[in-house]
Amino acid sequence: MVVANIVVVGSYVVDLMCRTPHMPKPGETVLGGPFKMGPGGKGGNQAVAAARLGSNVTMVTKVGIDVFGDEAVRNFEKEGINSTYVTRHGEESTGAALIAVDQDSENMIVVALGACGKITQEDVSDAISSFDEANIVLIQLETSIEAVEKSVHLVMELNKPIILNPAPYQEFDEELLKGVTYITPNETEATLLTGVDVKDENSAREAAIILKKKGVKTVIITLGKQGCFVYDGNDKGRLISGFNVDAVDTTGAGDAFNGAFATYIARGFSLDDAARQANAVAALSVTKVGTAPAMPYESDLSSFLK
Ligand code: ATP
Repeated sequence: MVVANIVVVGSYVVDLMCRTPHMPKPGETVLGGPFKMGPGGKGGNQAVAAARLGSNVTMVTKVGIDVFGDEAVRNFEKEGINSTYVTRHGEESTGAALIAVDQDSENMIVVALGACGKITQEDVSDAISSFDEANIVLIQLETSIEAVEKSVHLVMELNKPIILNPAPYQEFDEELLKGVTYITPNETEATLLTGVDVKDENSAREAAIILKKKGVKTVIITLGKQGCFVYDGNDKGRLISGFNVDAVDTTGAGDAFNGAFATYIARGFSLDDAARQANAVAALSVTKVGTAPAMPYESDLSSFLK
């Protein structure tokens, strides 16, 4: 089997997750529970998703000099993720996400990026040798834009493929899209990037055409339980259907999708096959509570697809 070498440039935050009978209104205190703490952040989650599918993963991020930062490094090592480029910030604390999940599995999240919002261009440049060894580099927008821009420029110079998961959406120089091989917005991000109200196959196609015109090579728009829409400009693009599962917590579905998509595209799968594998991995992730801890292993995926 070909092993994918993946570098993830992105966030690590500690997830502080609590179930709630209903979402609190402003000023309201709700008695909820159970409470769970675990590793999270889009970058960290995507790294775990890819590592559990057998990829060699290197993480480029920043944490604080605190217990959550120590825990982050321990967790990366436990997952077999190379933490050489996990740096520490002297003043900022490790990022944290406050997550409330209600009885319908809907979530509300507040993220304090802390240290991972302060990744510098130098931090990214220091990781150049890992980019050089990578088959693919996976980037999100949950860090400083300077780190995102520097990563795209460095990886472009090395002529390697880049996946940009534009999540959570924040403004960036759209010139950057010309260096992006695969972009993977969800419906909200695709809407913000294109102005098209994306909710189904047809609207996703409309948005994908616009993104392609902005310079991205291939567009993959995730559409929740519908699956995802793929478009590379060679034809009309198509919906790759999602898998029917009993969802208990959809937090981190997008991260599972991205870690898996990176893995299978780097292993040489076709666009449609990589998207189908990613749908399956993401579907498995929503059957469990949590983000990184809910990522399935390759053996889980094989049993699911049998
Ligand atoms: P999140 O922010 O909750 O992590 P997202 O909004 O970034 O997710 P979605 O488009 O909701 O991303 O989901 C990503 C992928 O996860 C989908 O393309 C699909 O493959 C899978 N998925 C999401 N929700 C479900 C579900 N209820 N059942 C099966 N698969 C799902």
